[in-house]
Amino acid sequence: MAGSLKVGVLGSRGRMGAEVCRAVEDTPGMELVAAVDTGDDREQLSEAQVVVDFTTPDAVMNNIAWCIDAGLHVVVGTTGFDNERLDQVRATLTDAPSLGVLVAPNFGIGAVLMMRFAASAAPYFESVEIIELHHAGKIDAPSGTARRTAELVSRAREGKPSPDVTSQEISGARGASVSGVRIHSVRLEGLVAHQEVLLGGHGEALTIRHDSLARESFMPGVLLGVRWVTEHPGLTVGLEAALGLD
Ligand code: NAP
Repeated sequence: MAGSLKVGVLGSRGRMGAEVCRAVEDTPGMELVAAVDTGDDREQLSEAQVVVDFTTPDAVMNNIAWCIDAGLHVVVGTTGFDNERLDQVRATLTDAPSLGVLVAPNFGIGAVLMMRFAASAAPYFESVEIIELHHAGKIDAPSGTARRTAELVSRAREGKPSPDVTSQEISGARGASVSGVRIHSVRLEGLVAHQEVLLGGHGEALTIRHDSLARESFMPGVLLGVRWVTEHPGLTVGLEAALGLD
């Protein structure tokens, strides 16, 4: 289709990748030119302008490097990114200053707002903890969204710790600490992706909860990212900038 934005998908037979393929095919002005999964030849992606990656934390870094080398913008939904990995992507991009890479731990617009609201509330409460709940097929814990929420909350509180006098503990009972914020990960058959941020103060508690009830909830954010990344070179982390929230 002339004038359409040409999109390739990595992880195309996975839960998210298959949904992205459907969404791109159903979107006027976009064309799905390559759907690549384990064992398929990545060369098919060369026809694309933007590649969307929903694969695995083990595969994603090599995929990003390959796409940058091939001159393709990348939208990354695969989770498992820490600062070291983000620095690696930045370094790979130095030789390709016209390309954009958008890494978003959560493409759900409601989830992005949940993180924003949690960060806004965090300085006003003594305690903050995060519970993230996902389907039993998720291989990384804690979720990328929970990690990012913890970082945003910690930054908003200038690192102020939550009170905690635990001195006896079965390992893991208090969850994982990310930027000093406790995250508890639940894996349960039947769930999709859910998160609660619990804030406790003097005689009051505030719970901010987001539920992704179906994978299609991520698609408006992914499609927004696909359009946005072509005009925003360099590495962008999170969907906030594309939503005009930064
Ligand atoms: P999934 O169903 O396991 O799908 C991953 C797919 O990628 C599988 O089909 C897998 O194939 C394929 N794959 C693995 N290595 C590959 C490679 N080198 N090249 C091409 N394809 C490859 O997982 P999912 O539930 O779709 O989730 C994918 C990722 O997205 C996870 O990291 C998840 O946490 C993340 N996620 C992000 C968001 C967000 O909003 N950012 C939302 C939901 C999920 P095989 O199984 O045959 O190896």
